[in-house]
Amino acid sequence: MEFEPVIGLEVHSQLKTNTKIFCSCSTEFGADPNTHVCPVCLGMPGVLPVLNKTVVEFAMRMGLATHCTISRRSRFARKNYFYPDLPKGYQISQYELPIAEHGHINITLEDGTTKRIGITRIHMEEDAGKLIHDPVRPVSLVDYNRTGTPLIEIVSEPDIRSPEEAGAYLRQIRSILRYLGISDGNMEEGSFRCDANVSIRPKGTETFGTRAELKNLNSFKYVESAIAYEIKRQKAVIAEGGKVVQETRLWDSAKNRSNSMRGKEEAHDYRYFPDPDLVPIVIDDAWIASVRQSLPELPEARKERFVSEYGLPLYDAEVLTAAKELADYFEDCARIVENPKLVSNWVMGTLLGLLNAEGKTIEQSPVSSSQLAELLALIEADVISGKIAKTVFDEMVKSGKAPKAIVAEKGLVQVTDESAIESAVDQVIAANPGEVEKFKAGNAKLMGFFVGQVMKETKGKANPQIVNKLLAQKLK
Ligand code: ADP
Ligand code: MG
Ligand code: ZN
Repeated sequence: MEFEPVIGLEVHSQLKTNTKIFCSCSTEFGADPNTHVCPVCLGMPGVLPVLNKTVVEFAMRMGLATHCTISRRSRFARKNYFYPDLPKGYQISQYELPIAEHGHINITLEDGTTKRIGITRIHMEEDAGKLIHDPVRPVSLVDYNRTGTPLIEIVSEPDIRSPEEAGAYLRQIRSILRYLGISDGNMEEGSFRCDANVSIRPKGTETFGTRAELKNLNSFKYVESAIAYEIKRQKAVIAEGGKVVQETRLWDSAKNRSNSMRGKEEAHDYRYFPDPDLVPIVIDDAWIASVRQSLPELPEARKERFVSEYGLPLYDAEVLTAAKELADYFEDCARIVENPKLVSNWVMGTLLGLLNAEGKTIEQSPVSSSQLAELLALIEADVISGKIAKTVFDEMVKSGKAPKAIVAEKGLVQVTDESAIESAVDQVIAANPGEVEKFKAGNAKLMGFFVGQVMKETKGKANPQIVNKLLAQKLK
């Protein structure tokens, strides 16, 4: 029997607000443990939470960007459980009334087609603290700096059908968050986290199979390999006549496998109830309209514009708009360089090739957009060939110098117009009678001096071979 995977993702993303969701403590990352805390986020008795309005606006931004309906009335709920990183004994989250529902995003598949993935809901909640397990002593320490950092949880419909689609969905969600400027989307640092729900069903059937929930997926690679492993595991269970059980599994990236963490029986009962300390969030049409107006151009729209405005192939547009910073870089260049496809080829090929090899992001590029534009403009002006431009590019990376300076310094310009060079040669000879005499008397080393003078005269643009040839002829 052929089986089809069914996958739904739950994404948690930290929001880039300056302060926490229910108090005015800083959300800055990397401070000394327990220095960004106060009675509210430490869960002291008698304190009251005050909602950070920016959190609501950021959640609305994501809701609108993913075509959700923004709830006119939503509210916070307490999710009760005990863990040392949760000093209150409950997490403030949203439950039956989330801030946004019923949205979707489009993802692009390998073959270039797009697929719509439904967004079930987006809700706001607070992050927990962080346990640090001492590697030597049998103790664990707790850092409450992260406690109360705002999060949104984005829950997808079970519309995803393969590990690759899951990867594409996650990348698109992260890209939107970053375009919106509301999250770093840094998976390795834990500001962007994902749980994957996976089940399989006989191909062609409608009913969903029993799902397993995969946790601890802290890189894009792990998400895809954990899902692939889970699909294989469930197929094997069924092939052996067994039944998939509902459970939570933890991905072990070192062993490249997952292990059962807890079954359905041990699942938590969170005893959700509306938080009596917080009033319902009421959002009117005017507020929604003003947030909608503030939305920037999003990756999908920008991709379409790159095709229509610059005439780029869809593939190029897709690659270039995946990250906002890369798209900005391209547009900065395309404003100066005439041929957008020339820019696209260089950014996607030479530049991304270099960045990938060095494990750098576009923000860390050793060549700025204006420097690359200057280089490409030299190609367009027929000052240098594309081949020489590659040499210049390598030198720009090495020295950080401007392309024109490198071209001048290295005499890379393709000026082969002999008469132009000849007049410079004549001028140099006329201006240095003493050196000419010494040269003719046998000081051959002076040739270097003459070449240098001609290069100076021609601002480095003269072809050195022609300069040498002409000098040799005229100094005979
Ligand atoms: P929970 O809170 O227990 O995790 P949810 O109803 O919030 O449950 O669902 C979580 C995720 O699981 C959603 O992304 C949903 O699409 C996905 N999901 C639900 N049922 C299945 C299934 N049978 N197979 C795969 N994914 C599923
Ligand atoms: Mg879940
Ligand atoms: Zn605080």
